[in-house]
Amino acid sequence: MAMITAIDNKRKTPYFQTTWCMGIRCNYDCSYCPTFRHSLTQPFQSLDTLKRTVDFIREYLDLQIKYTDPEYMNDYDLNLTGGEPTAHPHILDVIEYMREQIPYLKISLTTNGFFSDHMLETLSSTYIRDFAFSYHAEANAKQKLQVMTNIKKCHDLVSNDGYCVEQVSVNVMMHEDPDLFAECQAVIVELEAYGVEVRPRTIDRDDNVQAKERTETKIKNSRFGPASGKEYSDQQLREVKKIYIRKYQVDSKQDLKTEEWNENKKAKQVNGRPCCGGVTMSTLDETTGKWSDTKLIFNRNFKDWYCLVNLHWLYIEQDDDEIFTHQTCKANFANEKGPVGKISEYEKYIEFLRKYYEKGQLPVISCPNSKCTCGICTPKSNSKKPTYKFFKRHLPSIEPIF
Ligand code: SF4
Ligand code: SF4
Repeated sequence: MAMITAIDNKRKTPYFQTTWCMGIRCNYDCSYCPTFRHSLTQPFQSLDTLKRTVDFIREYLDLQIKYTDPEYMNDYDLNLTGGEPTAHPHILDVIEYMREQIPYLKISLTTNGFFSDHMLETLSSTYIRDFAFSYHAEANAKQKLQVMTNIKKCHDLVSNDGYCVEQVSVNVMMHEDPDLFAECQAVIVELEAYGVEVRPRTIDRDDNVQAKERTETKIKNSRFGPASGKEYSDQQLREVKKIYIRKYQVDSKQDLKTEEWNENKKAKQVNGRPCCGGVTMSTLDETTGKWSDTKLIFNRNFKDWYCLVNLHWLYIEQDDDEIFTHQTCKANFANEKGPVGKISEYEKYIEFLRKYYEKGQLPVISCPNSKCTCGICTPKSNSKKPTYKFFKRHLPSIEPIF
């Protein structure tokens, strides 16, 4: 059995991604989405507040770029997310300001896909290169029809003169409800036949978190609502596994298992996680000393491993006025899960980093989590040697502090 001690990714062009949650206001109310991730009533942030965040991103990237090897990384991506970012009344003004202030940024959008024809036309003709749709089966029939139409229209625009769309992908959230699960399977077949890149995603269901502080909404009282005892059947997990085997060429002998996740809660899931961007990863096997390629990582507990999460990601939680290294993992320089600063006081975080860089040093973060999710492709290792190599190819003039 392989004993993995390091993970790297095989992106052609390694990139730095800023993920900006512009606000948690959403036009959906998915039962598996916690109230700290979405709200039907949260007020929108003002344009001035949002512009200050763009100023922070510009100053942060200016500092990183000064020390990053341009041969290794010259691709800077800004992903707008929410809530639902297209529901934000200032989204187009913000993107316009961003293009003016940080013209080299590639802007991508994570969306539930429920937006108007006009929004699709504006975003795809001028602004957004990469659309990452999520298909949420709990939406109503009219919403889902609009989403499917938007996905197909957007796909038709890839490489179309006059439009800037380069990539369209769809994460299909595989719902545990038998009817909705079957619908998700049909959506995968339909979109793949249309030529769209589709990724089935199992839901990390935890009703204690996802039901917390929910008010009486339609979804809460539906058969999908939190605490309605949903979990995948073994047959459903086998179906998801079949798709994984086909898409990611994994060893079909890998077992399905009920694994512990998220503070010892039990939830049935398919064992193994692909990179959200679908990139190939490579893993170092301690027993053979060899690197090998994989599309799925099976053991996802990297607690206390060295991880370059801060050198590849930045996450901004606008409504809470908080800055993190990464959206889900939230690892910080104290090797804990928590923010690295506030947007309203962003100068302090820039100064913290500047002082280290000017001394020619930077601390390496140790993973505080017992389960890695969408940071899975981030270069990481449980020993200093591979970490040092990852670090120096990125920041050649800086020494890592372990
Ligand atoms: S669309 Fe996304 S943000 Fe909105 S409720 Fe669903 S999962 Fe949450
Ligand atoms: S959870 Fe975060 S810190 Fe831990 S290995 Fe994954 S990306 Fe790195």
